Amino acid sequence: MVSSTRSSTAQPVCVLGSTGSIGVSTLDVLARHPDKYSVFALTARERVEELAQQCRKYAPRYAVVLEEEKAVQLRQALSGENLPTEVMCGVDALCQVASDARVAVVMAAIVGAAGLKPTLAAVRAGKKVLLANKESLVMAGPLFMSALADSDAQLLPIDSEHNAIFQCLPYPCESLQDAGVERILLTGSGGPFRTADPAALESVTPDEACAHPNWSMGRKISVDSATMMNKGLEFIEACYLFHASPAEIQVVVHPQSIVHSMVQYRDGSLLAQMGNPDMRTPIAHALSFPQRIDSGVAALDLILQGRLDFEAPDEARFPCLRLAREAIDAGGSAPTTLNAANEVAVEAFLNGQLPFTGIARVIEKVMKTSEVVELTDLDAVELADRIARERASEILKDLYGSCSADSTHRGQPCPQSRSM
Ligand code: NAD
Ligand code: MG
Repeated sequence: MVSSTRSSTAQPVCVLGSTGSIGVSTLDVLARHPDKYSVFALTARERVEELAQQCRKYAPRYAVVLEEEKAVQLRQALSGENLPTEVMCGVDALCQVASDARVAVVMAAIVGAAGLKPTLAAVRAGKKVLLANKESLVMAGPLFMSALADSDAQLLPIDSEHNAIFQCLPYPCESLQDAGVERILLTGSGGPFRTADPAALESVTPDEACAHPNWSMGRKISVDSATMMNKGLEFIEACYLFHASPAEIQVVVHPQSIVHSMVQYRDGSLLAQMGNPDMRTPIAHALSFPQRIDSGVAALDLILQGRLDFEAPDEARFPCLRLAREAIDAGGSAPTTLNAANEVAVEAFLNGQLPFTGIARVIEKVMKTSEVVELTDLDAVELADRIARERASEILKDLYGSCSADSTHRGQPCPQSRSM
């Protein structure tokens, strides 16, 4: 049990989505610094046995799952183990642990729109919030940022690109203009299909789409990387996080994923943050900011790396990038609609109900047929999200004859879906 070495000055951390790719990397970094951090809460949707193992190792005060059935399984798995862990379930319990007065740091690493409520709860409670869950910012950007401004919370980006940009900017940075920034260069690897024959994309499988050349990630973000919707979502994320206009952000394809993003200054300086592609670097950076701690990531050997390449993105091959730009230009509920339609389409692709190229097709159709409305409050966000999911499911059915609105609603999988 890591907690046996817990120090009384250790900061209690809540890890939302602890069984995911980011969650596991976060726990790896935390385990390296038991004097600095303790694990207060762990949460997951499924993979109960893995969550139970994490509870045995980190002895959190709370473990939260989504459904009662999983809570029963988890309690059974942990019974008789003399752990301090109370098992809870449901979205309210996620919000409760994310905003608990005893928590100092919240890692927001739930995938998809399901991350919005607990992440917002952490922001409103004034936590230090490490934001991996980009979808929550994309779907509710203005509300999210105004909740941040109204609270004492500190938001630190975990997405490697945004963490890199954050590192290349002065701190704090209220205005890019005042900081002398000319533009942000958002890098992306181009994913597994950067050079693939466009005609072959129609028939790629979920496993091929998830085989990212440089990063090991959850399946949803891996598909997003393959369509380059991930870069589109990150484009929107960067606009909100850094108060940037779309014109101030340029996407640059960098196949090696060594430069994680750059900031171009007025005087001709171009600052880049580099490192091996391993999410433990941005996690360690954000956890300890402004200090630096060991992350377990090996130092980058530039001589071994040899070369770094950069090219313009191919928007004909990757229409999702264009769709994301159109969404941020349209404003209001358009990014919410984009995100929701993408989640439904990616889920359907992973379930074998839609070809890879159908993802962009479905999203574009949803965007074209959806009204853009003002997002005045969380209810408006949830309504726009729900309408887009229903529309995406209808379009999926029309075009490909599958998947109902219920089966993909709010990140819940179709019954035959694989676990995350
Ligand atoms: P993942 O699929 O590996 O893990 C997701 C976690 O969220 C799991 O613990 C899962 O149980 C939980 N979860 C899923 N649906 C849930 C729901 N409805 N309610 C509550 N919990 C739920 O995903 P990941 O790759 O770790 O990505 C997590 C987030 O971080 C995503 O928003 C992703 O875009 C972002 N991100 C990931 C990486 C990466 O390298 N993996 C990099 C940058 C940003
Ligand atoms: Mg990223």
